[in-house]
Amino acid sequence: MADIFTPKVRSRVMASIKGKNTKPELLLRRGLHAKGLRYRLHDRSLPGQPDMIFPRHDAVLFAHGCFWHGHPDCHLFKWPKTRPRFWRRKIGKNIRRDETNVALLLEEGWRTGIVWECALKGKTRLPYHDVISQCHEWVLSDIAMLDIEGKTH
Ligand SMILES: [Zn+2]
Repeated sequence: MADIFTPKVRSRVMASIKGKNTKPELLLRRGLHAKGLRYRLHDRSLPGQPDMIFPRHDAVLFAHGCFWHGHPDCHLFKWPKTRPRFWRRKIGKNIRRDETNVALLLEEGWRTGIVWECALKGKTRLPYHDVISQCHEWVLSDIAMLDIEGKTH
């Protein structure tokens, strides 16, 4: 069957589906690397395969796409009009899985942070350097959790 997307668009679509190497994630990586932090990527042995792992600091970071992770009250998340039952089931499952993964990580002694896509993208985005500084300070801290989302309207 012919692909309905151009190769460039297809690769972006696939990245957003698998949730790896998405644009917000790349922005975070670049900024934190520039701050001198070193990390591993997508460790399969950890619950939820965190996007970035900072072993020296017992910390992991996720860059969550607002649609796939069902970010509530977010302009980047709207329930699709077609096949509503399918989407409620699918996104609902993702949300529950995320909650379980965070609980497991904390239990295993990993400090766990989430940066939502809307903090880095669109009309709700925060100044890039603020997001990077917050993440950087958090990684160096002893605080268990971090949650950065875009400005609400
Ligand atoms: Zn969001």
